[in-house]
Amino acid sequence: MSSSSHSLPDTPTLPNTHSGIPTRLLDKAKRAKTLIWQGRKVAASQIPRTEPTLPQGISRSTFNKAISEITQTLGAENVELNDKPAVDNGWYMEHPNTHDMMHVTDADALVASAVVYPSSTAEVQAIVLWANKHRMPIFPISMGRNLGYGGAAPRVRGSIVIDLGKRMSQILSIDPDDYTCLVEPGVSFYALYEAIQAKGYTHIWIDTPDLGGGSVIGNTLDRGVGYTPYGDHWAVHSGLEVVLPTGEIVRTGMGALPGSNTWQSFPYGFGPIQDGLFSQSNLGIVTKMGLALMPNPGGHESFMYAFASPADLAPLIEIIRPLRIANILENVAQVRSAEQTIAVQGRPKTDFYSGPGMLPDEVVAREVAKLPCGPCAWVYYGMAYGPPHIRQYKLDIIHREFTQIPNARRVDPSTIPRDNYFWSRNNIAAGVPDLEELLWCNWTPNGSHVAFSPVSPIRGRDAEALVKLARERRQEYGVEMFPAFCVGLREMHLIVEIVFDKTIPEARTAAMGCLRAMIEDAAALGYGEYRTHLALMDQVASTYSWNDGALMKLNERLKDALDPNGILAAGKSGIWPKRYRGRGWEMGVGKEGVEGDGVEPEAGGVRL
Ligand code: ADP
Repeated sequence: MSSSSHSLPDTPTLPNTHSGIPTRLLDKAKRAKTLIWQGRKVAASQIPRTEPTLPQGISRSTFNKAISEITQTLGAENVELNDKPAVDNGWYMEHPNTHDMMHVTDADALVASAVVYPSSTAEVQAIVLWANKHRMPIFPISMGRNLGYGGAAPRVRGSIVIDLGKRMSQILSIDPDDYTCLVEPGVSFYALYEAIQAKGYTHIWIDTPDLGGGSVIGNTLDRGVGYTPYGDHWAVHSGLEVVLPTGEIVRTGMGALPGSNTWQSFPYGFGPIQDGLFSQSNLGIVTKMGLALMPNPGGHESFMYAFASPADLAPLIEIIRPLRIANILENVAQVRSAEQTIAVQGRPKTDFYSGPGMLPDEVVAREVAKLPCGPCAWVYYGMAYGPPHIRQYKLDIIHREFTQIPNARRVDPSTIPRDNYFWSRNNIAAGVPDLEELLWCNWTPNGSHVAFSPVSPIRGRDAEALVKLARERRQEYGVEMFPAFCVGLREMHLIVEIVFDKTIPEARTAAMGCLRAMIEDAAALGYGEYRTHLALMDQVASTYSWNDGALMKLNERLKDALDPNGILAAGKSGIWPKRYRGRGWEMGVGKEGVEGDGVEPEAGGVRL
């Protein structure tokens, strides 16, 4: 039975809650939420629970004692036990912080036992010291919206999630002269954008990912990307404040100099650059981060080209490469498949096709022909920046090059209705956070997604090889997937989103099977993932095995040195602390259980 959608409560807004939607996007939120609820074919499923799921190695009495201790420190309202039947539901704007609402494992596999809400770096430090004392696994999230990669779920079942965003959501500074900012974990791209508008700083742009609800810090640490020329967030960050797993507080870059006046403008400081230790890692909790902001380029103009044949992909990528390196194509371009273009309307597959399996080619051709892009196999979304004459110079080159491909068509933006997805890409490429991207999740009932994200050179043959690999596995596993190329300066990320009905165990198993197979296939051809889901981290890490796994050995040495009790985000990026190693915690082909066989008790532990 489909749940009713007319009585849906409003989406929480900024600034009422740090994770809310800006009021300018409320109508979009309403529409997105309504479509999602219409696609819910089962009532909200419940994860039955009466007491917290405890992590291995922690007895109920130790847990209770530890919880009462941290409650004393943080206050009862800032410690929340995960002891109620959880609603395995939510949506992008109202997401749980105890698990992954788009779980590709069992709903109850990767769950927190409790969530704590620190209000300051000092309280984060207190939590870390407490975790060391009790050997309590902890897992930090900033916003917990890391959808497609694990959401808010911890890797070690029963960990305590540290929800940093709820009470640490200050924009500590926006410097209108240097074009920099300093933020806390709970600042979303929505919030940063709105704050800059509220101050009237029209000369400053931010960069935003496809959806603006993620934390600026969380996204940057996970090396997420956006679509303005400042789209590589990690590359434009400057300065971190970090609580180490043993409780020390460190500032990187110029922040190490007391009274420094260049923390946000010179990222390197003096000596070894340590920032990398804290990205996609489990070596610290970031409590502040600086970021460079982009000057308003004085004009911008979105463009869209449609390419008729699947075979146009390779020549298109060959054309893109030199234009991208020369910065004629200035932003992370998206080359999207016709199917995703159909799906991003937010309508279910059954609106187009009632047969089993994937959309047949003729249905794809018929449906895409009805859209503003017209009949095509691939769509390119890009943006030119600067005043009109500068844009025109670049747009002319792009047009000349793109139309070397037979039947390539520029779609005139003035012919595209305002509610078309094109205008969402227009917002995003201009640094205006939006809320439209995940509409393709409605493709299946109870739609969820999980991503396969390999990196490749910007070469036609690589694009073809990856698409072939994905399509073959898609056929074999019978999954729905949407490939899109995001072209960086000298490489491209292929993001293959698998969309599945999370309430059907076989659908989850097929998604996982397909992902595991694609990871193996890709590695055999020399492609590695830039980022992955929690359940796939061990496998992806194992593909980075050059010289007898030298990189993982280094990671483990660092982990042992910096986190001797192995309390922080064990298993993140496939890096397991000593206490867990050799006990079968790794997931992979043939081993989907998330847990291992216990943890080493006190041995190797360090009293702090
Ligand atoms: P999002 O910004 O997408 O909501 P999350 O808060 O879910 O991101 O975090 C994404 C990933 O980054 C998670 O694996 C999380 O553990 C890690 N992470 C997020 N914030 C921090 C932080 N402040 N310090 C260390 N790791 C973090």
